[in-house]
Amino acid sequence: MAEPGVDKKKRVVVIGGGVAGSLLCKTLQKHRHFDFTLIDSKEYFEVTWARLRSMVEPSFAKRSVINHHEYLQGASIITSDANGIEDNEVSTTEGRLISYDYLVIATGHMGSKCVTKPEKLREYEADNEKIKSSESILIIGGGPTGVELAAEIAVDFPTKKVKLVHKGSRLLEFIDEKGSKKVLDWLTLKKVEVILGQSVDLTSSSDDGTYKTSEGETIMADCYFKCTSDPIGSSWLKETSLKDSLNDSGRLMVDANFRVKGFENIFAIGDITDVAELKQGYLAQKHALVVAKNLELLINGSDGGNMVKYTPGSPTAIVSLGRREALLQVWCVTSIGRVPGMLKSKDLFVGKTRKQLGLKP
Ligand SMILES: Cc1cc2nc3c(=O)[nH]c(=O)nc-3n(C[C@H](O)[C@H](O)[C@H](O)COP(=O)(O)OP(=O)(O)OC[C@H]3O[C@@H](n4cnc5c(N)ncnc54)[C@H](O)[C@@H]3O)c2cc1C
Repeated sequence: MAEPGVDKKKRVVVIGGGVAGSLLCKTLQKHRHFDFTLIDSKEYFEVTWARLRSMVEPSFAKRSVINHHEYLQGASIITSDANGIEDNEVSTTEGRLISYDYLVIATGHMGSKCVTKPEKLREYEADNEKIKSSESILIIGGGPTGVELAAEIAVDFPTKKVKLVHKGSRLLEFIDEKGSKKVLDWLTLKKVEVILGQSVDLTSSSDDGTYKTSEGETIMADCYFKCTSDPIGSSWLKETSLKDSLNDSGRLMVDANFRVKGFENIFAIGDITDVAELKQGYLAQKHALVVAKNLELLINGSDGGNMVKYTPGSPTAIVSLGRREALLQVWCVTSIGRVPGMLKSKDLFVGKTRKQLGLKP
């Protein structure tokens, strides 16, 4: 006999197996009343903040790139892009239709073009070869990705000439000016040349390693890495029944329970949402845990009135600077060097993230 309030397993479909979607699925799997399906464009979850280390040390990616089947054993996993949502069904580019009682959108950013883990590992090997065989390296973009890559290369390959070009007036614009300046000084000390207020026109670059900037400067480099942010994973939603729930920046508007505006049974979590806070992985994980709890309440017969409400996270940032150092900013307190580095830079939270997914660190 079914337990009170529980008639049959509810079908939950989660779209996006990134930081938020992977933890949500792992949490749902512990709950026997859910019948969930994960749809992700690739076969694996990747700890995004370990990407730059994997470029200087490709074997690092063996732990930070994790097949979905490794931590979701026996679960229903579909490797395909979702491309439609209509009448409580999700369609995928490979032509499948998956019905749901509850849907969770977690498609934060467009994923990597590599679909399998071996492909991804080979990509890191190729990046590493590119770094090793170049004397001069151009990094385009001075957000966290560009800064962390410049720092990884400067620490592991101190003889390489690294140039970082950023179109903004300061590095890491999401932290305060004091923090930006400390990172600029750190990179300069490590002999990274930082050019601010300019962008690189890749269409005018030539095969001889010449790159033109927006101010007409010429930069010579043996190779380059484009470290500008990946597009938000919401363009496909413009063709679905959720199109009116997107704001002008292409993010899904959600209430404090993460329910998508206009829908009772559709949630969104992670970077795809319009929650007013920094778009950070540790916050995306918090969203996942709130929605897991709310789904549990709904399935146990709640009318939604007692669902957990989320309060946007406080602004905390840790930017790793190579293997030992980092910049930490909490509210207006900024610290740089080995002490904040002890929090993140050695293992980049890979062991911690693996443990959250029930795997050996
Ligand atoms: C280099 C880098 C370093 C970072 N460092 C930190 C850090 O130190 N600390 C921190 O807290 N945060 C950090 N972040 C931010 C953090 O990674 C993001 O906030 C987090 O990944 C957001 O999680 P998400 O699940 O919303 O989206 P994502 O992790 O981007 O996952 C989205 C998933 O959806 C899939 N997808 C997209 N479209 C579709 C579709 N149509 N159909 C099916 N699947 C789809 C993608 O393949 C992907 O698997 C960093 C980000 C980057 C890029």
